[in-house]
Amino acid sequence: MAETESAPGAQEFIPPTADTIDELRAAAAGCRGCELHRDASQTVFGRGDERARVVFVGEQPGDVEDQQGLPFVGPAGRLLRRAVDDAGLDPRHIYLTNAVKHFRFERRGTRRIHQTPDRVHVTACRPWLVAEFARLRPEVVVVLGATAAKALLGPTFRVTRQRGELLPWPAAAQHPEDFARVPVDRAGAVADAPDTRLLATIHPSAVLRADNQDVAFEGLVADLTVAAGALR
Ligand code: SF4
Repeated sequence: MAETESAPGAQEFIPPTADTIDELRAAAAGCRGCELHRDASQTVFGRGDERARVVFVGEQPGDVEDQQGLPFVGPAGRLLRRAVDDAGLDPRHIYLTNAVKHFRFERRGTRRIHQTPDRVHVTACRPWLVAEFARLRPEVVVVLGATAAKALLGPTFRVTRQRGELLPWPAAAQHPEDFARVPVDRAGAVADAPDTRLLATIHPSAVLRADNQDVAFEGLVADLTVAAGALR
């Protein structure tokens, strides 16, 4: 596992003229904003419908995602798609991303064991998330699990206490100034933040680890149903 170091952060790797998610993704491939790029295979940037009304934010790519270079393609991703479907959201019209875009792991023999990213990694990677939101302008952001929740809502937020609640965005975000005015064109014009709302729930990997997976899955679907109901 890479040692946690101080990190310069991703901001200097984000081209100010990047208008599209594809341009951001291309730039993120070369990000050296923290040490996680050293051991991981590649940057795993967000993917999905760039006009998505709902954006999902997870923790970080897992082993399968790291190898394929795509988020949410492993077991947790498959479960999430099923939950999205059951909640009445169209899986073709969502966007999926992570708070941290490189896989953090510990090597044990031939296995790579997931390691929760530290705050320094979440903070270093946050500029990519801010840039994604600025281009996507979704109606609802669904935050999956504690790491993503803390990335957006701050260290004191508890998913267990406030899951399934629609929260105002960006007022609910930590450092809401990041989201209050967003760049909209190459000339640097800014606009007020979109009328987005935010909802936190458990990460689909927590469903896979739960003693009673059926109950945990139903809980996830119930929370996503609230998100679906918030679409105008
Ligand atoms: S985890 Fe984020 S900040 Fe760190 S190198 Fe990867 S893309 Fe850059």
